[in-house]
Amino acid sequence: MRLKKILKKLRGEGITFELDLPGRRLTSFRLGGEVAAAVFPRNIKEVVWLLAFLEQEGIPYFFLGGGTNLIIKDGGFPGLAVSLRDLRGLDFQLEPESVTVSVLSGEPLRNLVSLGIKLGLRGVESLAGIPGTVGGAIAMNAGTPEGAIGDFLEEIFVVFPGASPLKLKARDLSFSYRKTNLPQEALILQATLRFLRTSPLQVAQAVGEMCRKRAKSQPLRYPSAGCVFKNPPEDSAGRLIDLCGLKGKRHGGAQISTRHANFIINRGGARARDVLELMDMAREAVFKKFAICLEPEVRIVGQG
Ligand SMILES: Cc1cc2nc3c(=O)[nH]c(=O)nc-3n(C[C@H](O)[C@H](O)[C@H](O)COP(=O)(O)OP(=O)(O)OC[C@H]3O[C@@H](n4cnc5c(N)ncnc54)[C@H](O)[C@@H]3O)c2cc1C
Repeated sequence: MRLKKILKKLRGEGITFELDLPGRRLTSFRLGGEVAAAVFPRNIKEVVWLLAFLEQEGIPYFFLGGGTNLIIKDGGFPGLAVSLRDLRGLDFQLEPESVTVSVLSGEPLRNLVSLGIKLGLRGVESLAGIPGTVGGAIAMNAGTPEGAIGDFLEEIFVVFPGASPLKLKARDLSFSYRKTNLPQEALILQATLRFLRTSPLQVAQAVGEMCRKRAKSQPLRYPSAGCVFKNPPEDSAGRLIDLCGLKGKRHGGAQISTRHANFIINRGGARARDVLELMDMAREAVFKKFAICLEPEVRIVGQG
């Protein structure tokens, strides 16, 4: 099916889309090639219809939340980017000892943290300052040394390509450091999380502390995708890259941050290629010096 026909169909369904969207409009790195079209479904029904339609027509697609852990290669993507950014909604139920939160996957994670401050959700500070959406956070098991989103998960509502949506309980899932056993083609629609209650003041203080730590240790003034590599067991990728003398290394418009060596920043006009080549340099140097193979944390899509 030609793109024009696909778009006509989307229009007919009332689903919003934009043509030829560059990577800088979809990702926090502010770089990368164009996607043929980005689609912005606003409710679960639209997402489920869209996925079934794309599968049936054999149209290439990928999905994203906030694009804060994503690189789109310079050659772009010839199909559709399904953005969940408009799939929003956050609700909660108070119990004497705990709070159950129900959230649609495109909801910004910061809104969950804000709710956590208001209601005193114990442990929510471990998610403070992580950009992106709740769905993206679950897909990545995002977190900090203090904890990760998987610690609070009760259930997800998820759709696999070509199938009907289904609920998966936390006991069906496994979470480890920046990893889940959910296949990458599973799209998270909604999540239910449960937090124990504590004093809102305590949570507010802990969140404030986390944000201060981040501002000190991370290059937040520049576009990036956060840490580009996962930390190897018992070590830190940033420490190893630093010991290889690569802190501050520039390549095209990209640079290994002088503040945090596991961050690559876009100093202006960086191409995806600049970032990927810097990542290769860092991996090679760390492997040569320490015989440790760094695994990318950032997800990469597209061609060229
Ligand atoms: C300044 C900065 C600081 C950061 N700090 C941290 C940190 O402290 N800890 C941390 O863990 N991460 C951190 N990150 C990385 C990033 O913010 C997290 O990984 C975040 O959870 C990604 O969410 P997202 O919505 O932006 O996902 P995206 O980047 O849009 O997508 C990432 C992956 O998740 C998949 N995905 C997105 N939405 C869904 C969905 N609904 N269902 C299924 N899969 C989905 C995508 O297909 C993609 O493979 C940081 C990033 C930046 C820029």
